[in-house]
Amino acid sequence: MLNRPMRQAAALLALFLLTACTGQTNAGQPQATTVSAMPTSVQPQSSSLLAQTQPAVMESSPAARSLPTPTTQETAPAIACTRPMPFTDALTEGPYFKAGSPERASLLEPGMNGQKLVLSGHVLTQDCQPVAHALLDFWQADASGQYDNSGYTLRGHQYTDAQGHYQLETIIPGLYPGRTEHIHLKVQAPNGPILTTQLFFPGVTSNDQDSIYDPKMLITVQDTQDGELGAFNFVVSAP
Ligand code: FE
Repeated sequence: MLNRPMRQAAALLALFLLTACTGQTNAGQPQATTVSAMPTSVQPQSSSLLAQTQPAVMESSPAARSLPTPTTQETAPAIACTRPMPFTDALTEGPYFKAGSPERASLLEPGMNGQKLVLSGHVLTQDCQPVAHALLDFWQADASGQYDNSGYTLRGHQYTDAQGHYQLETIIPGLYPGRTEHIHLKVQAPNGPILTTQLFFPGVTSNDQDSIYDPKMLITVQDTQDGELGAFNFVVSAP
């Protein structure tokens, strides 16, 4: 039998042990859960940022991903192009087109008067893809504004190369009544529709007096010691 003081001491010891065990259990579990939850709530944000930035990179290089070899990518022209590109404007053919022009990249002939022009550029689809073997058929007036309707002076056709590039050597055409300086041409992708249009020159006073003049068909021109360097890219329908 325990006497009264011993029973009180035993009860106090039992209460102390019970309190100590319960407090340790409650303090441990919630903290561990909170810490492990933090990284989980951060990770989805990082993943969504990656998801936003990665497609932008992929969009800028679909051609590179689809090209079969790096060699093709290295030789492809760097063309500044925002998709989809608008089609090049069509303009009237006029009365002086003549079928059957010779295939040639230079319309220059010995003794020809006029300021030399080298015009170059690319034929492209609306997706900025080069059109290989596109036909370009040029015709124009000479430096005094005359067309050769009996022969093929200042008339010629050519085809774009594998990168859709063309280059024409010619002269700046002269004025004739009612018309500003212009070069006529037809452009056609293989098996595509024929686009008939005209090119114009910047800074020509008579541009604004010409009812056919289209500022979207202005070539960019650079003066060089060897003549004028012109540039224009055509956007055509290609099947
Ligand atoms: Fe004309």
